[in-house]
Amino acid sequence: MKRLAINKQILQDELHVELIGSIDEDSDFKEVQGLAQKSISFDFKEVNMINSCGIREWIKFIESMPEKSTITYNNCPQIIIEQINMVHGFFRKGATIGSFYAPYFCESCQKESKEHLKAIDVKNRKAPKIECPKCGSEMDFDAIESQYFSFLGKV
Ligand SMILES: [Zn+2]
Repeated sequence: MKRLAINKQILQDELHVELIGSIDEDSDFKEVQGLAQKSISFDFKEVNMINSCGIREWIKFIESMPEKSTITYNNCPQIIIEQINMVHGFFRKGATIGSFYAPYFCESCQKESKEHLKAIDVKNRKAPKIECPKCGSEMDFDAIESQYFSFLGKV
């Protein structure tokens, strides 16, 4: 398994961190540890795996980040949303979720798709209506809304 790659970009008061690959026991967040920009955002788009050791490493890391920094989680894939929903501490208190992916299914095409949603577009834990990009029919949300969107209660 390839180790987690971390790309960081610093723009004055902002730190943008892109995570690529799997978050596991070998994941090393040293590169961004100790940084204390006012606003810190994490991009999870390219995270394809996370295991229990990785969850522990992540929680240790996120707890070590300065309390006064504003933290945002962006482009969270389904595996990350599941951790946020289930694992206490994965989502740091006071942080924000900017955007994430949600599973949809088109009955007529029999095709799944992961749709990119902004947290502000989800009202009352109801999946926004989305048309299939291929056939135009309305897709079904492919998870249990009250569960999948439960993290929005934490935001
Ligand atoms: Zn379709």
